[in-house]
Amino acid sequence: MIKVKCNCGGEFREQTVEFEGFDVKGLKCSKCGELTFTPEQFRKILALKELAKEVNSTRKVVKIGNSLGITLPKAINALGLKVGSKIALRLEDRKRLQLVVA
Ligand SMILES: [Zn+2]
Repeated sequence: MIKVKCNCGGEFREQTVEFEGFDVKGLKCSKCGELTFTPEQFRKILALKELAKEVNSTRKVVKIGNSLGITLPKAINALGLKVGSKIALRLEDRKRLQLVVA
């Protein structure tokens, strides 16, 4: 556990925080809410942003046997996905379907 004091007198605690639309590990002050990152956390955020540039895309629905399917961009390999990997589908509303790496 990383313990760093904030300028306000509070203490930074490592937790999952939302930053630029991503859920990432960061250090948040328990008192004022100030957010900061360790160099390692920041390096992971940059890598995630680079990956998102390649993964975020529009895919065409294709027919696979009697089912509908989509192909995934090659960059998705960085998530450790391979043939046979499980992905959970979660319907959020009629326009949004979330894919969660299981
Ligand atoms: Zn603070």
